[in-house]
Amino acid sequence: MSVKIKFLGGAKTVTGSSHLITTGSTEILLDGGLFQGHRDAFYEINTTFHYNPRTINAMVLSHAHIDHCGNIPNLIKRGLRCKIYTTSATKDLADLMLVDSGKIQEEDVRYVNKINRRMNLPLRKALYTAKEASRATKIFRSISYNQKFCIAKDVSATILDAGHILGSGVIVLDIKDAEQTLRLGYAVDLGRKNLPLLNDPVIPQGLDYLIMESTYGGRMHRPIEEAQSKLREAISRAVKRGGKVIIPSFTLERTQEVIYFLNELLKEKLIPSVPIYVDSPLATNITDLFKFHLDFLNEKTRQAFSRGDNPFELLNLRFIREQKESKALNTDKRPMIIIAGSGMCESGRVLHHLQNNIEDSRNMILVVGYMAKDTLGRRVVEKIPFVRIFGVEYELNAEVVVINAFSGHADQSELLEFVSGCLPADRQGRQLKRIFLVHGEPEQSLALSGILTQKGLDVHIPDKDEEVLLN
Ligand SMILES: [Zn+2]
Ligand SMILES: [Zn+2]
Repeated sequence: MSVKIKFLGGAKTVTGSSHLITTGSTEILLDGGLFQGHRDAFYEINTTFHYNPRTINAMVLSHAHIDHCGNIPNLIKRGLRCKIYTTSATKDLADLMLVDSGKIQEEDVRYVNKINRRMNLPLRKALYTAKEASRATKIFRSISYNQKFCIAKDVSATILDAGHILGSGVIVLDIKDAEQTLRLGYAVDLGRKNLPLLNDPVIPQGLDYLIMESTYGGRMHRPIEEAQSKLREAISRAVKRGGKVIIPSFTLERTQEVIYFLNELLKEKLIPSVPIYVDSPLATNITDLFKFHLDFLNEKTRQAFSRGDNPFELLNLRFIREQKESKALNTDKRPMIIIAGSGMCESGRVLHHLQNNIEDSRNMILVVGYMAKDTLGRRVVEKIPFVRIFGVEYELNAEVVVINAFSGHADQSELLEFVSGCLPADRQGRQLKRIFLVHGEPEQSLALSGILTQKGLDVHIPDKDEEVLLN
């Protein structure tokens, strides 16, 4: 049997996940993620393919984060014509995420071209527009969790719950030729146990090979339960001194988790009852989608919905779509909680809230997500005394609180537990032969690979565009 994996992206980095599986007669893509980086690298890497999108037979998509689905509209522009198999929740979420990604690219190109025109430099083009993105999910086909689905003549796919975000999946491919079957698992991204809203990740059985993420291969998270108590302490403190709490938040999953915890705290009267605003049209649309995909939520949340107790409907919670209403919060001096995109404070409405509130020491910037290097969010976390927002310098006087307990990714111990669960041989005596670690900065992947190797496992950290033969 000659099956090969080519690690197209998300190798030795966390962004741009995409992997090509070729059998004797079939080409399958796992994910079509967007590489996120500075403008030149962004365009170059996302448009350079070492394969022909036209000859791909099927794609299986793990989840709706842009680093996994964000290059799909561009792939379609370049000839991808196959079906894309994923869960119904991922299909609906990807629709929103891709249109938003197209919009952001168009805005960025408009801004850069204004400067380029003035300086007589070549004009840039968006990788894809919002309109192009809106057509992408037409080729998506929904499949349910745990149902084996034939996606090509020699390949079947099963999607298991990855417990990472709504609709996310661990993908299992069964590839067969005349004599044998090969089973490949793809756990990228892998969630955590006990996350609010979601079920725990499901561990696939009888794998021959596993491609696994290693974002936190060398790190341990604080338990998720701690997030709620840290939120309580921080919010109570800021409100007591009459301050506003600004929460920069990723629109997909993190925003809904924060609302969920705030709801729990309010029900128990553990935080003061102040107005809460979710100031992001995208987060508003995503939150709306949750109630149409109750099957993907955990038992506790489903029961709450069936009692008519929607965790995203609180008396003092308001979702804001209109820019005018968002701006009006600047003149409202009452203590309040504002959850706004973007997660790393690089764009979006969180910028004007920071601009208006960062210099007042009564206020608080509450960080609940990852802040990448060279972002405004990271400068806030590092408590740099002066930060630039819209080209103007502001003094960072607001209190900065970082809650590390939020994370949708498995940490080192959870990744090890997942691998242990994959190890026992199945009834046919099939046993895991090799693990490929992807979706991690090298130091994180190496830390995890060191431990797995000590346990006697065969681990490989592939380079981008490396091709490996499975047998
Ligand atoms: Zn993800
Ligand atoms: Zn990812």
